[in-house]
Amino acid sequence: MLVNESIAIDAGAIGLFSSPKEQEKIRHVLLTHSHIDHLATLPIFIENVFTGKPDPVIVYGSTPVLNCLQTDVFNNRIWPDFIELSKFPVSRFLDIKPFEPNQTITLEGINITSININHVVPTVGYIFDDGKSAIGYVSDTAETEEIWERLNKQANLKAVFLEVTFPNHLQWLADVSKHLTPKTFKLELQKLKKDVPIFAVHLKGRYRDQVAKEVAELNLSNVHITKFLKDYTF
Ligand SMILES: [Zn+2]
Ligand SMILES: [Zn+2]
Repeated sequence: MLVNESIAIDAGAIGLFSSPKEQEKIRHVLLTHSHIDHLATLPIFIENVFTGKPDPVIVYGSTPVLNCLQTDVFNNRIWPDFIELSKFPVSRFLDIKPFEPNQTITLEGINITSININHVVPTVGYIFDDGKSAIGYVSDTAETEEIWERLNKQANLKAVFLEVTFPNHLQWLADVSKHLTPKTFKLELQKLKKDVPIFAVHLKGRYRDQVAKEVAELNLSNVHITKFLKDYTF
């Protein structure tokens, strides 16, 4: 997902969307966690946007996620060690910057706060606030508390993106993999005390239609299924 064209949340698909020229507009990648559906095209993306200039794309994540990038992705087996290569002026592929839970950084005039959420590996959600509008991004997660408390205090909150991964009959799978079903998605939303649009994300491809149907059956008028390649303005 992109924020203002230049900030990407995760890298599941950014290396394959549109053209390398279009991808080049992305200057910052904020990783939520180390699962491959969130990292899969990061190496391809970084290769696509490599210009040889001294200011490469910056990839942000918590320490466990950045360690994973080094050990499990840029390890000279899965992919060349772009992190090591980036130490040389001719091969500045990426910069990596630690962005720990409860920290706030400012990118392109947007204050971004990282908050721990509840998944099977260390995972964060993000709150974006440009002063006028704030949005929350909560994925991947099972039941969680802190980010709802933070979002409830956000006076200018305009929207929340929340995961709903599996259909209700796979609640057992959602529980072991720490995801939400429409049933538990609804319970999470009860923790949000603000009447803002909710955009469901992370519906598993195989069950997308079924999950969307079960979400519709919740009869929550402010809940929408996030559409691919659609622009949302807040
Ligand atoms: Zn995950
Ligand atoms: Zn995922």
